[in-house]
Amino acid sequence: MANGRIQNIHVSLRFYGNLKALLYQNHNQGKLKHILPEPTSVKDLIESCGVPHTEPDLILVNSKPVGFDHLIEGGERVSVYPFFHSFQHHSDGFLQPRGLNHPLFLVDVNLGKLARYLRLAGFDTSYSNDADDTGLIEQMIQEKRVLVTRDRKLLMHKVVTLGYLPRSDNAQIQLKEVLSRFDLFDKIKPYSRCINCNGLLRNVQKEEVLDQLEPLTKKHYEHFSKCGGCGQVYWAGSHRFRLPGSLKKILNI
Ligand SMILES: [Zn+2]
Repeated sequence: MANGRIQNIHVSLRFYGNLKALLYQNHNQGKLKHILPEPTSVKDLIESCGVPHTEPDLILVNSKPVGFDHLIEGGERVSVYPFFHSFQHHSDGFLQPRGLNHPLFLVDVNLGKLARYLRLAGFDTSYSNDADDTGLIEQMIQEKRVLVTRDRKLLMHKVVTLGYLPRSDNAQIQLKEVLSRFDLFDKIKPYSRCINCNGLLRNVQKEEVLDQLEPLTKKHYEHFSKCGGCGQVYWAGSHRFRLPGSLKKILNI
């Protein structure tokens, strides 16, 4: 600090792909310039632009990959990339974990429809419509779940290591985003989990559930499954299994 004056730090940033949609302000092609009062970690810098640390997969400072704690001191060019599948097989410099075989999800209160769709696709998905932020963070840590929320402040919490912020308002597109981000299209097991309680479904004999069936269901259906959690009975024609064509297309069923 020459002559005791604070020298502001200038830095140029460029965000790529679907990270641009997360910026607090619309910036031309994801480009922006920032002035900082003091050296700052690259994590704090990108989060100050609106992008939680769960979203970038690669950060280059002057063309070199860096970790989140890299200190920005002035004059740098920072490029920030989202998770790209073309990066999948490289291992250097990437910030997000790879190869999550069976991710467990924890879905925030305002994404109930997405939670049901994830269960429908067979993924273990915890959801409660009255969870608060503290409860979500605790459960995320204890059960090692991927936190899915549109609350970016929650994803910016330093204890969050695995998360995703759906960009779309539409639950079907959100499902597609999550399946794509965690590379889950070939792990979909439709109709294996209860959409109400996340319990696993098991096939049951018709006689076992006869007293729970309406006359027409008794007449027209032979194959049934039952939730091990809440006891809900499912069959091919039950309204919980009748899906819009667009959703079937996403799930490839
Ligand atoms: Zn259930």
